[in-house]
Amino acid sequence: MHTDINSSQKHREALVLLKRFYGYDRFYPTQWEVIEHVLAGNDAVVLMPTGGGKSLCYQIPAMMCDGCAIVVSPLLALMNDQVSALQANGIPAAAVNSQQSEQLNREIIRHVFDGKIKLLYISPEKLLAEMNSWNTALKISLIAIDEAHCISQWGHDFRPEYTQLGSLRERFPGCPIIALTATADRLTRNDIKEQLHLDDARMFINSFDRPNIALNVVCNTSGREKMKILERFLEKHKGESGIIYCLSRKGTEKLAATLRQMGYNAEPFHAGMPTKQKLAVQESFVNDDITIICATIAFGMGIDKSNVRWVVHNNMPKNIEGYYQEIGRAGRDGMPADTLMFYSYADVVQLNQFVQESGQKMLNIDKLERMKQYAESHVCRRRILLNYFNEPYDHDCGNCDVCKNPPRRIDGTVPAQMILSALVRTNENIGHTMAIDIVRGANKNELRDNGYDKMPTFGVGHNLSFATWNGYILQMLQLGLIDVAYNENKHLKVTPMGWEVLRGTRKVELTEVEIHTKAEKKPEKKPQVPTKEDVDKSLFEKLRQTRMAIAKAQNLKPYMVFSDKSLMAMAQEKPTTKDEFSAIYGVGELKCEQFWRPFTATIRKYLNMS
Ligand code: ADP
Ligand code: ZN
Repeated sequence: MHTDINSSQKHREALVLLKRFYGYDRFYPTQWEVIEHVLAGNDAVVLMPTGGGKSLCYQIPAMMCDGCAIVVSPLLALMNDQVSALQANGIPAAAVNSQQSEQLNREIIRHVFDGKIKLLYISPEKLLAEMNSWNTALKISLIAIDEAHCISQWGHDFRPEYTQLGSLRERFPGCPIIALTATADRLTRNDIKEQLHLDDARMFINSFDRPNIALNVVCNTSGREKMKILERFLEKHKGESGIIYCLSRKGTEKLAATLRQMGYNAEPFHAGMPTKQKLAVQESFVNDDITIICATIAFGMGIDKSNVRWVVHNNMPKNIEGYYQEIGRAGRDGMPADTLMFYSYADVVQLNQFVQESGQKMLNIDKLERMKQYAESHVCRRRILLNYFNEPYDHDCGNCDVCKNPPRRIDGTVPAQMILSALVRTNENIGHTMAIDIVRGANKNELRDNGYDKMPTFGVGHNLSFATWNGYILQMLQLGLIDVAYNENKHLKVTPMGWEVLRGTRKVELTEVEIHTKAEKKPEKKPQVPTKEDVDKSLFEKLRQTRMAIAKAQNLKPYMVFSDKSLMAMAQEKPTTKDEFSAIYGVGELKCEQFWRPFTATIRKYLNMS
């Protein structure tokens, strides 16, 4: 009974802080459970997807307890961003790391001892070096270990300097330790607990669903057709920040150049660029000065930008983990975000080759296979993703292309037979392009030279487009009717199952291919977040400009002034007084005081004009 009263009082206290410092009205799922658990002095391992709200799980307890919270963080850029964001909300935070002067570090540590800092961000190696000189005069409220998967060799991001953090549990008895990560897999999560010696920690696992991220895959397009689809997508997202992932460094440069010619504000980003240039590009993107980044996977690790509105994969990624992490960089603020993945036969061939040459071949083949299944799926894509991460998800999401536009199935026996026949009659000595050229009756010397134009199959499928045939071949490959001989110039071979189809003893069902490239139908079920259509777009634009001006003047990143979600709320609710402004999502006390004038002025001006 006593603890109940105590707990509800703490809950109220936490909600007051949430409103006052962050401008939020309620906790996200699991946040309060974690906070309560930590406030009671317990250890916790917290698994939440990106954007799930991990930071508040330790920031709120840090503010509610005496002393200073230590936050271990591996990436300098993220550390500085977090500190700036906290300071912008009026929370006393600071960072100690090897990139700033030793003098500054010492000064900060002194402030910590003086009780002036509530949250100290520190790199693991600095913490290990510093903590030996810390005595009982320093009251540590809790230790948070961010990106905790870095401690695991199983994770995708192992950092040797993290392994020594295992000593913290013993070194700081009685001080709660909270480990946080967005890496979900079971192996890693158990390893985190073990490596950090958090034997009694409770594990908090949130859903990894990101319902605000729309999933779209376009199969079998190339060249001009692909570019057209990309153009349509970019047109739809004009002015919004986004990332396009490409396979190669060259690819990023080429695409960025093309987009610039089309009038887009795009820059390439890849590991081969000089560090200084990379930092500059990253910085400009975060500050909304560059809208589009064409990047290899090297981009995105160290940035925390909450208003990335879309992500495109120009080629299929090699596994679902990578894909989910990359699309996860969109929509951290919970507002609608869009994604598009292109998937082609050429991608499969190229990735297969990478995989054949890779270290853990069997594992990687398996992962690539799962990725392909996702791309070719005829069931809700979100179901596949979440089930892949061992999270049961048993309904259609309404926010993927399959849900919005269910594919149609056709009896594909005859078209399949056409291809199979072309393969057999050429002694299985051709690749997929030649096979398509034959059935479409292409006017090419290469065909005539080989006498292929005399074959009975020549031109029997002229009524279907190249892309359609390309899609059918891909499906035949998936269905196991044909196989690619990688060691024979990627020629296509007919499998025993393929022979059954050819002989007419087996039927084939294929999916109508071009359906995904047609205009999107209206979603039947709307995701549970406000859409951009609900708000006044031109007011939103004006508010964005106001935000940009403030960000420049205060040397803050725009999303740290206010998130897109806050701007949306302003555009929707149109506050014109300080009081009204203070009730807006994400407006805490300090930001209200500092920013109510410019934003309400923008709104008032807009209302008078319209
Ligand atoms: P993560 O570290 O898990 O990726 P963050 O802690 O950065 O997530 O939070 C993601 C976004 O959600 C941030 O913009 C944050 O301010 C916001 N947020 C967190 N908790 C809440 C809440 N209870 N209500 C509203 N917004 C929240
Ligand atoms: Zn779906």
